[in-house]
Amino acid sequence: MSRLSLFGVTDEAWGDARRDLDSRGGGAFSESDVLWSILNRLVSDNLVSSDFSALKSLYFQMGLFSVGEGRESFDCFRRSSEMALRSLQRGGVSRVAISTAGRGNACPECYRQNDREVSVEEAIRTLPLPHANCSSPYGYCRCTWVPA
Ligand SMILES: [Zn+2]
Repeated sequence: MSRLSLFGVTDEAWGDARRDLDSRGGGAFSESDVLWSILNRLVSDNLVSSDFSALKSLYFQMGLFSVGEGRESFDCFRRSSEMALRSLQRGGVSRVAISTAGRGNACPECYRQNDREVSVEEAIRTLPLPHANCSSPYGYCRCTWVPA
């Protein structure tokens, strides 16, 4: 269960999700199925309350989980990026900049965007993070949005 506690999943949430999946039938579910179900439920709960900060973290965790499972992760990291921007916007930030992990840590494509500055509106519309051509094996280079 160590991987589950890493995602902040309690035994109670695990039991609930397991019972919910079992009640739908269809046979055996893997630990990954249950965890994915829990993460999706947390996303739904936080979408209702528009908690952008929590959604940013959840989508990011889902991205990492997807990488670990060998699944497509880009969309999760993209949603995480959007939620980070919406959280900054709600906090009154109007312009943002891309902060990369730096030369030698970020991949060349990501590093090219280092310190790039845009309005929050444009960033949400175009979502340049994560970079579509990021060559990191993890699907992201730890690039983040910072207030400009
Ligand atoms: Zn990259």
